Amino acid sequence: MTKKLSKYNEKRNFNKTLEPSGRLSNNKDSLKFVVQHHLASREHYDFRLEWKGTLKSWAVPKGPSYNSSERRLAIMVEDHPIEYRDFEGTIPKGQYGGGTVMIWDEGTWEPLSDNFRDFDNNSIKFILKGKRLKGKWSLAWMKENQWLLNKEKDEFKEFEKINEFKRSIRTNRTMEEIEKDGK
Ligand code: MN
Repeated sequence: MTKKLSKYNEKRNFNKTLEPSGRLSNNKDSLKFVVQHHLASREHYDFRLEWKGTLKSWAVPKGPSYNSSERRLAIMVEDHPIEYRDFEGTIPKGQYGGGTVMIWDEGTWEPLSDNFRDFDNNSIKFILKGKRLKGKWSLAWMKENQWLLNKEKDEFKEFEKINEFKRSIRTNRTMEEIEKDGK
């Protein structure tokens, strides 16, 4: 168990949830990102960027928007292990984050500034190379764990409304199918 992921591990009982237990990754390829649609007690989208061996993670209640004037609140949560980007399934009721998780988008990302050092209450502009999320985006720190996820202006616009997409980008399953499959 690594210190970076201790919060993540403390919140979960790995005898009861199929989520991965946390360990650091030494991936040397392009930085990965994932967005998971999570039907927890409050529906949200988990936005995760690979950074220094973990996934920096934000819960975005309304999910990302391609409309630059719609700044989306993003609550920073504990770092997640890199393997979490492969997690799709149902977290049992009563466990932390209980509810169904769907891999909503995935791909690679790049910071736009060469001298970006860390997500330490900093703001960052970056490029997403996913299937549903593309182009320039930014995360701006406001206070405490509150950030704003925003689309920066460019030529990309892959959807109007986030709920146009009902299926997993990885497995093409609906929420109901994921829940029924049990994993
Ligand atoms: Mn979540």
